Amino acid sequence: MQDSATESNWLLPSAVTGAGVGLFETVWATFSASSSTKGFDVIWVALSLMLLGLAVGVLVGLGLAVVRLGAPAVLRTLEKLPTELWSAEQTDRGLDLLVGVVTVPLAFLVMLRSVENAQVTFHDQHLMAIIQVGEVLLLVGLAGLVWGVLRGLLGRATSALRSRLGPRKARFVSSRTATLVVGLGFVAVMWKVWAATAELRRAVDLSWLLSIVVFVALLLVLRRPLGHSRRPALLAAVLLSGVSSLAADAFLFPFSQTSAATVYAGAPLGGIFVRRLIRLSDVDDDGYGSWFGAGDCAPFEPTIGPDALDLPDDGIDQDCSGSDLRRAAVPAWEAGWTPSGVPGRNLVLITVDALRRDRVGAYLEQSEADSLTPNIDRFMGTATRFERAYSTSSRSVWVFASLFTGRLPSEVAWGPERPVPAFLMQNDTLAEVLTRAGYETRAYVSTGYFHHPQHLYQGFQTVDATPIEEIKGDAKAMATSFVRWLKTRQDPRPFFVWVHLFDPHSPYTHRPEFVDEDDLASNYAGEIRYTDQNLKRLLQTLGRAPFSENTVVVFASDHGEAFGEHGDNFHGRTLFGEVLEVPLAISVPGAPARVLQTPVSLVDLFPTMLDLLGLQVEQQLSGRTLTEAIRTGEEPDGRPVFSELIPDGSRPERQWALLRRDLKLIVDVHLGSKLMFDLSADPDELENLYDNDADEAAALMAALREVIERIELRQIDAR
Ligand SMILES: [Zn+2]
Repeated sequence: MQDSATESNWLLPSAVTGAGVGLFETVWATFSASSSTKGFDVIWVALSLMLLGLAVGVLVGLGLAVVRLGAPAVLRTLEKLPTELWSAEQTDRGLDLLVGVVTVPLAFLVMLRSVENAQVTFHDQHLMAIIQVGEVLLLVGLAGLVWGVLRGLLGRATSALRSRLGPRKARFVSSRTATLVVGLGFVAVMWKVWAATAELRRAVDLSWLLSIVVFVALLLVLRRPLGHSRRPALLAAVLLSGVSSLAADAFLFPFSQTSAATVYAGAPLGGIFVRRLIRLSDVDDDGYGSWFGAGDCAPFEPTIGPDALDLPDDGIDQDCSGSDLRRAAVPAWEAGWTPSGVPGRNLVLITVDALRRDRVGAYLEQSEADSLTPNIDRFMGTATRFERAYSTSSRSVWVFASLFTGRLPSEVAWGPERPVPAFLMQNDTLAEVLTRAGYETRAYVSTGYFHHPQHLYQGFQTVDATPIEEIKGDAKAMATSFVRWLKTRQDPRPFFVWVHLFDPHSPYTHRPEFVDEDDLASNYAGEIRYTDQNLKRLLQTLGRAPFSENTVVVFASDHGEAFGEHGDNFHGRTLFGEVLEVPLAISVPGAPARVLQTPVSLVDLFPTMLDLLGLQVEQQLSGRTLTEAIRTGEEPDGRPVFSELIPDGSRPERQWALLRRDLKLIVDVHLGSKLMFDLSADPDELENLYDNDADEAAALMAALREVIERIELRQIDAR
């Protein structure tokens, strides 16, 4: 702290550094794999990020000034720490080594154990990853503490050592040997933990660390040339520019949805800051901010915001949709149907967790030998296959709730339990309807995830599922159990069986019999092959069974799986194609094999399955029956397909997606950001057209509002 540069101001260097990091992040975001930002939008991204960087830089500069003025001792202690740790003083090598031999392996074992525990305990990979990063930090600290205590205890207990460790040396001064041993030990531990958590690290994006490194480096470089001036006028100007650039950015940001999307998806620190600032702007604490285009239209009124229910016809726009909800304008729910199926038929619903549509051979132009799913393909070749089926969400609980009730995830009744809300008894499920109709109902589920508190087994008379302690069961065991039951079945009642296989869900097992490489994408593929192989016997037994002529078989997955396509991995946090597009095929006795092209939703399955069994329900549903299309081959009508993410105790995201013909809209309600893609020209959903075609964007938004208003009305009427 003795050189003159540190005595000068940090404000100007820090402000310039902030803007510089903004420029760095612009380059980073523009060239990231999931970005197609170009032309004027790049300039807009640069402007947004540099203004934000400048504001943050000013804040950091002020912070540094405060630390230097208010707590110079803190800076001095930090300065002395390296010399304390790296001392030429020979304290006691033997003692250091001995303590190191005990603490480092101990830390290692505890850490590995905690990784295993976290993998078993939490289904939520993001939560797991955050917990583990926290655990690693905590354990490093704990190991250091154990090291210090052991060193002190041993030093005191051993008289021979005590004489060599004089009172002066008894305080913590580490020798170079000790620092090296401990340092290397922890590097080894970290390396092992890094390797063990490869799958989990996909869940956390640490690229913001790079931006921090760039910030610190740039700040140190700029400190000398820019830090000398102490002219009050200049410093005041810097301060003022920090405040005004923040205000300007918050105002300008929403005018380009394309660049906003680039910032959110690609700018590591910038994206985090904008999200934080939006949180900060939630002064009325209704969960929604108002800066940067976020959607709270009444920032000081807690009863008005995007999550509020819009009471119909009261003249107040409580949900910030732009107008008051009018009951008369809300489209009706699906009308009932006249059952067209044959009463008494059996129903087998086979679902595979996290199976992407583009990993199923039937959807790809490839030879049978290249297919990961020859047995699923064979089944689909005998059924009605839906070329474009979409899930109602990208997370199992929400999806199965829709699938079993014919309602959208937010129309289902949920309890308040945390972290995952409970599926309430008042929901009437497919298994309950079929039980009332005299069916035997059974579930074979190879995951422990659907036990309490989700109650997704509601209505099943028999459940054969993996215990709750084990997240992941095994397709082979489930298929065997199902086949054994099927072969020995004597019950005269018709049956409904749900078989859910979980193997393609993370954490993936490496299956050397199917894939050579031991990486995430290959292991995912290996799990799909393994699942398909076990489905072979199941499907064959079903096909040969005496009652097969009288059995409807439905095959689907609940959602897909992301591999970084839009900067995210796993599923449950976005509504892009990689997590929403699912395989779907329905085999009905007597119906010929065919392929239908119109987009359909998994919410359509509930009415379709009941209709195929010759049954009818009184409830108002959001899905429609696809029976006519299956019977005649005529395409179903091209109504919009809606999907959503709803917040719960573990995740805050609220997002809506609407697909109408080839145009898809995705709205992040918290951020107020909007994406629009033309899937016919851009199936990978990379080019945001929201700013380009105002008419189409407005039409899609209006169609989305219709769905939301119907959901709101359902929620209001249920209260
Ligand atoms: Zn799932």
